[in-house]
Amino acid sequence: MTQPPVGPTFRSGVSETANESETEAAGEALGRELRPGDVVLLYGDLGAGKTAFVRGIARGIGANPDDVSSPTFTIVQEYAGPSATLYHVDLYRLESAEIDDLGLEDLVSGEGIVAIEWAERWKGRPDDVSEVSIKDLGEDSRAITIERPR
Ligand code: ADP
Ligand code: MG
Repeated sequence: MTQPPVGPTFRSGVSETANESETEAAGEALGRELRPGDVVLLYGDLGAGKTAFVRGIARGIGANPDDVSSPTFTIVQEYAGPSATLYHVDLYRLESAEIDDLGLEDLVSGEGIVAIEWAERWKGRPDDVSEVSIKDLGEDSRAITIERPR
């Protein structure tokens, strides 16, 4: 695995992972950098590894990664960490009117850390946030592009 850049200089980068646990590790590295109020928008096809990455974010903020799964009926799931709560949102299958009614503006302007899968479906999404794009390169390879706000 190409190590994602970590530490104070962590800004943007592309890494390639060879399995699910490496994608989780990339999420964990980002999670360690996140602070209350931070927002992460995730992009990528079904099965790309967005939820795996969010599981890593949960571990990185000290929440229980075992609680992180693909939300089916619960659109917003909460995982409490020692210094922040992670709100995990999945917009897959939602109509745009339903997305407008979720109150995402309030969520992202609050003190939680918010990770949103299928973020492109939210037309009102903020742009000054971290963005993670995951691309399936075939088999178990994934390209993960992380862009942090300046
Ligand atoms: P998404 O949330 O993007 O729909 P998931 O994280 O739920 O995707 O699922 C990703 C699937 O792909 C899992 O079944 C996982 O085991 C598999 N997988 C294979 N290789 C990788 C990898 N490098 N990174 C993440 N997931 C992978
Ligand atoms: Mg998912």
